[in-house]
Amino acid sequence: MSDVKKIALIPGDGIGKEIVPVAWEVVKKATALKLESKVFDLGAERYLATGEVFPEEIKEELKGFDAVFLGALGDPRVKPGVLERGILLTLRFEFDQFANLRPMKLYREDLTPLKNLKQLDVMFFRENTEDLYIGAGGILKKGTPDEVALQELVQTRKGVERIVRLAFEWAKKEGRRKVTLIDKSNVLTYAHDLWQRVFWEVASDYPELEANHLLVDAAAMKMVLAPETLDVVVTTNMFGDILTDLGAAVCGGLGLAASGNINPDGLSMFEPVHGSAPDIAGKNIANPLAAVLAGGMMLDHLGDSLGAKLIDDAVSFVLNEHQVTPDLGGSLTTTEVGKALEAYLEERR
Ligand code: ATP
Repeated sequence: MSDVKKIALIPGDGIGKEIVPVAWEVVKKATALKLESKVFDLGAERYLATGEVFPEEIKEELKGFDAVFLGALGDPRVKPGVLERGILLTLRFEFDQFANLRPMKLYREDLTPLKNLKQLDVMFFRENTEDLYIGAGGILKKGTPDEVALQELVQTRKGVERIVRLAFEWAKKEGRRKVTLIDKSNVLTYAHDLWQRVFWEVASDYPELEANHLLVDAAAMKMVLAPETLDVVVTTNMFGDILTDLGAAVCGGLGLAASGNINPDGLSMFEPVHGSAPDIAGKNIANPLAAVLAGGMMLDHLGDSLGAKLIDDAVSFVLNEHQVTPDLGGSLTTTEVGKALEAYLEERR
């Protein structure tokens, strides 16, 4: 097997086109891996010019890559959902990226809106392929007073077990102390009973790790009142969707929120959580740090934990030096933040 890692770059739309090139330079500077990249022009321009969202031949070609690094999708000229569903969700589902990893890490004390929070380093494992997101259901008598809408929640043992096991495995590998299941098992007595049974079965294989459980309503309060009591969290697609955005807000907002969509045996995708931000696109003021941190997660996934750590340190450095874009109170451009990160890495490597 070749030791070159092939990365598919999908800058996408809006600020995605500005942050991906900047983040990619930082990733290359941080890693000892040999990386090879190819840019895919998926997104609004292609759709508007050709009507194509995600051509079959590109899906086929992506199978030959080691990871996808994506910027953002969505454009005011395209109906909402066409690009997001057609590209992002297609990638997640067709490549079975069943684990959505969302770190909740505080890089600088004053970035949190919470009082008295000094430190935070929590990892969320959000199930990414089941639950209310599979599109099962329907509408009867649409538009009439008798209208009925059904949206069905589906969980499979295989689907639950693989995300729970991944969370425990990761916690063990990273030397973490605790894994928490967040669910609503007191009300969703079928689907979340399955989560309960699987979680405690898997937990028994990891006696070195503490395992505990929170109901989602209590968890939401805890994330604001005492987030530092969490360590590794595993939760459903729906709850993870909401709680991880709460987590992003607690740690300084969208400009710093990164994510990985993982298939440990297949093609994984790394992206910032934010969207294409059309209001600031083209101005070279988008914060590239979320994309850079997603790049760090990608390096970790590809086996370069040192590179990932260097990226984390570099982000801490620019934040502490206030070398940041206007959204974080700085006056640097996107490219200047990239250069500051590169300069730091140049010294460290
Ligand atoms: P989507 O629906 O795809 O999430 P959106 O425009 O509704 O797109 P985002 O693009 O995620 O939402 O972001 C909302 C706002 O937050 C943006 O309009 C922008 O002002 C700000 N924002 C988001 N990401 C960044 C970033 N990386 N740097 C600076 N500001 C950002």
